[in-house]
Amino acid sequence: MENTWDVIVVGGGSAGLSTALMLGRSRRRALVLDEGMPRNRFADHMHGVLGHEGKDPAQLLREGREEVAAYGVEFAEARVERVDRDGRDFVLTDTEGKRRGARAVVVATGLTDVLPEIPGLAERWGTSVLHCPYCHGWEFGDRRLGLLATAPHDIMRAELLRQWSEDLTVFTSGIGGVDPVTQARLESRGVRLVPEPVVGVDGPGQDLTEVRTEKGVYPIDALFAGGAFRPHDDFLESLGPERADGPMGNFLSVDEFGATSVPGLWAIGNVVNPALTVPGTMGAGSTTGGMVNMYLVGQDFDDAAPEPAKDFWESRYRSQDRIWSGNANATLVDLLDGIEPGRAVDLGCGEGGDVLWLAARGWKATGIDISETAVDRARGAARDAQLEDRAAFVAEDLEQWTPSEDLDLVTGSFFQSPVALDRVAVLRRASRAVVRGGRICLLSHAAPPPWAEHHHDADFPDLGEEVRALDLGPEWETEVQEVRKREAADPEGNPAVLEDAVVVLRKKA
Ligand SMILES: Cc1cc2nc3c(=O)[nH]c(=O)nc-3n(C[C@H](O)[C@H](O)[C@H](O)COP(=O)(O)OP(=O)(O)OC[C@H]3O[C@@H](n4cnc5c(N)ncnc54)[C@H](O)[C@@H]3O)c2cc1C
Repeated sequence: MENTWDVIVVGGGSAGLSTALMLGRSRRRALVLDEGMPRNRFADHMHGVLGHEGKDPAQLLREGREEVAAYGVEFAEARVERVDRDGRDFVLTDTEGKRRGARAVVVATGLTDVLPEIPGLAERWGTSVLHCPYCHGWEFGDRRLGLLATAPHDIMRAELLRQWSEDLTVFTSGIGGVDPVTQARLESRGVRLVPEPVVGVDGPGQDLTEVRTEKGVYPIDALFAGGAFRPHDDFLESLGPERADGPMGNFLSVDEFGATSVPGLWAIGNVVNPALTVPGTMGAGSTTGGMVNMYLVGQDFDDAAPEPAKDFWESRYRSQDRIWSGNANATLVDLLDGIEPGRAVDLGCGEGGDVLWLAARGWKATGIDISETAVDRARGAARDAQLEDRAAFVAEDLEQWTPSEDLDLVTGSFFQSPVALDRVAVLRRASRAVVRGGRICLLSHAAPPPWAEHHHDADFPDLGEEVRALDLGPEWETEVQEVRKREAADPEGNPAVLEDAVVVLRKKA
């Protein structure tokens, strides 16, 4: 597969090129994939486009490509057949089977005007059979105009067209005729209504001189005809973007910036709004180009910035129904079994196994953990064990925590984190609440488990160094500082030996 692009723009018409221009100027690695069949390819001149009035639309796109390419955007002639998700990114497959990756995709593929099947209509499309009075009305001002009504909103178009000529004939069979009120309204300004079906249009070359119905021939110089719109978006099916029905058909749902319901996927121009003329598609494309760049800027910072500890632990706990066994650590049990119960705090209590063991032995124990999910589970376990009066749990970031009562014991079993955690500061704060004769009992992984292939060094604090860094002062003594081996089971259930680093510090009585 080709390297992942920042953005692939599908469709190189006025919408796609305007997006690409913004992306290129934002120094994005962008590729435009285009099949080269813009909607207005049937017209020789383009109107209503400031600065380009009367220009050949193909010329506008040629100039646009040059401008965009000058900022490093690349182009390939291709028809995209399929887009799939690849994690956060996308994979686009073209009709030749070529696959390209992109962090974001902008769909600017336009639409097909599906014309009624009337002999002579299609070959005059863009010349004398027209879609939009704003694009072509001026050129046919005061001439004999016709409107082939095919959808209810064409009645509004009939009123609109009357602005360009007093000589207007509306062929209404495609909408089953009009009601008397509408008829009276249109006829009040001289609009002729013809109810019979149109059977053909004719004239020399691409010009038009007549529209034929089953009953007669009508002299017409330009026929406005719409038909249905078929947006070019079927290649997005596997992504399942939301769609909505509107007066002009069924289109992808997008917000005001072109964002679809699929994160990282935008859609702009005629593919989502058939009423947009070239300037409208340029505005949409330009705005969306900026938004897509902003989205990628956000992603770049998200990737670079450290993950907040709360997010890390929440997603860790939510990833499984239960992470830990629910039993107290065997080494901790061994160390604390004979000690007179009092008030205890367990730092990073997880799902509460150690706290429940302490509570069951008469301690008044509080577990603190940054993960709400873990704390909810621990509370549930305390309820089940009917230990709620002696086992409390608090969801709190220990880096912000200060003890609220005197403590006889502070435990921290595997109170280690792959995301930033200032253990020393937390332990120092905890130590200040420990009463004379009280203890700090720390268990940590001394080494990665034998089944782990990779492990980050930061996961294995050197407890000796940490005790020195804690610098608790002469009133503290070290009771235990050693590595203990413990029997456990690997993820497949095979026996394994784990190494725990153990430190017990005691505040002298
Ligand atoms: C006859 C006619 C005359 C018009 N005259 C005017 C006018 O005078 N003034 C005006 O402002 N507007 C005019 N318009 C409207 C104008 O055509 C549209 O506003 C404009 O083309 C829409 O731009 P777009 O970029 O959304 O789509 P398009 O211009 O249609 O561009 C879409 C591009 O995407 C490509 N594409 C489609 N599917 C794929 C795929 N799967 N993979 C790769 N590429 C794909 C297409 O081949 C095409 O190149 C006219 C329209 C018609 C039909």
